[in-house]
Amino acid sequence: MSNSGIVIIGAGEAGGRTALALRENGFEGHITLIGNEEHLPYERPPLSKEALTEAEAIAPKSITSPEALEAAGIDFIASICATSIDRDTKTIMLENGTELAYDQLVLATGASPRHLPLAEDVRHCVYLRTHEDAIRIRERLERGGHVAIVGGGFIGLEIAASARKRGSEVTIIEAQPRLLARGVPAEIAAVIQREHETHGARVLLGTGLKSITDAGEQARIALADGSELLAELVVIGIGAVPNVALAEAAGLVIDNGISVDRHLRTSDPAILAVGDCASFPAQLFGDRRIRLESWRSTHDHARVAAVTLTGGDAVIDAVPWFWSDQYDLGLQVAGLSDEGTTSVRRDLGDNAFILFSLAADGRLVAASGIGPGNAVARDIRLAEMLIAKRAHPEPTQLASPDTKLKALLAA
Ligand SMILES: Cc1cc2nc3c(=O)[nH]c(=O)nc-3n(C[C@H](O)[C@H](O)[C@H](O)COP(=O)(O)OP(=O)(O)OC[C@H]3O[C@@H](n4cnc5c(N)ncnc54)[C@H](O)[C@@H]3O)c2cc1C
Repeated sequence: MSNSGIVIIGAGEAGGRTALALRENGFEGHITLIGNEEHLPYERPPLSKEALTEAEAIAPKSITSPEALEAAGIDFIASICATSIDRDTKTIMLENGTELAYDQLVLATGASPRHLPLAEDVRHCVYLRTHEDAIRIRERLERGGHVAIVGGGFIGLEIAASARKRGSEVTIIEAQPRLLARGVPAEIAAVIQREHETHGARVLLGTGLKSITDAGEQARIALADGSELLAELVVIGIGAVPNVALAEAAGLVIDNGISVDRHLRTSDPAILAVGDCASFPAQLFGDRRIRLESWRSTHDHARVAAVTLTGGDAVIDAVPWFWSDQYDLGLQVAGLSDEGTTSVRRDLGDNAFILFSLAADGRLVAASGIGPGNAVARDIRLAEMLIAKRAHPEPTQLASPDTKLKALLAA
């Protein structure tokens, strides 16, 4: 291997963790981590939660420190964008004209909020992805008033809960007939909706938008049913799109993200992709291609990428898992609930329950749990292990709290 070593583009969780995991795996070559944000790699989950609700503004939650990067011999270049990849010469170009050579390249470019054309150039419309976005939303929340959230997905709902905690009036506008239409069973989405309504948020389902315009200190939102809302702040949370422009321009295969194999290699074996920008075959689900936007997944990817980059043979086989916190409710989903054809409910007491999703052949493919705080964490962890085992548990046993999930695991 030449001195060029490994270059990682994107210094978010996936890129940052890959750099650190490479050293943990004994890689001794040169590592360069390039990020276009000014911060050290940081965790995004707090941005829609504590960053909006804590009494004082909080700093980004870094996953490492300058000292740790230096001790690990990782060259971290912040605040600069990588603008192109030349696969023939194995070089990348930075926006300041610098060229960097690589032996292996990792794309960890993440995702960006999906833009709503209607909201283009509307002063009071904002998106949330970065620490700076969170600071901006936080400042607006401090002024009080009415916050309209466009989109009833996770990020929109978490911001809605945070805005209610800060005392804002909140309206959630969702075009689908229910909240969280992607990835969460309807029964759980209904619990979440009730929680928002109990806390005083207004939830408008099946509601399209006609236009959003600035009207002085407010935005005027015209709904498809002819009614209108005025809001001091409009947060657009209609999903995220993977950042694939660099990869696409370099001729790599794109398929709902940068397409990678089980080892996270793109269509060019010298280039890997990790995190939100990558779509990969889900081994547990017949190699169905999926792309996850999940904190845990960045850890799994970093671990596997580090092995692949150092010549080992690890594969992405982790059970997809994510969580969301809204008010005092904790939601956790393991597996892919859309793989299920039937569901079984297990009540855990204290208003907590788990919905197990079973495929047509009885295989457990997902478990979605909701309850106060961390009430579902332990059982979801066990369910995750059952899913990993491709278990076919008896529905009656799943439903009965008298049957310990641990016992099913041992069976
Ligand atoms: C507000 C919010 C709340 C979340 N909450 C949860 C949660 O509760 N639970 C959960 O499981 N997950 C949650 N997530 C998802 C989780 O944070 C993401 O899955 C994770 O951040 C993905 O990491 P990543 O490194 O792939 O992408 P990112 O964190 O987006 O990092 C990619 C980085 O690459 C940079 N970049 C892109 N292109 C270039 C370029 N050309 N040159 C240089 N740099 C570039 C980007 O600016 C960015 O800094 C949340 C995400 C957000 C935004």
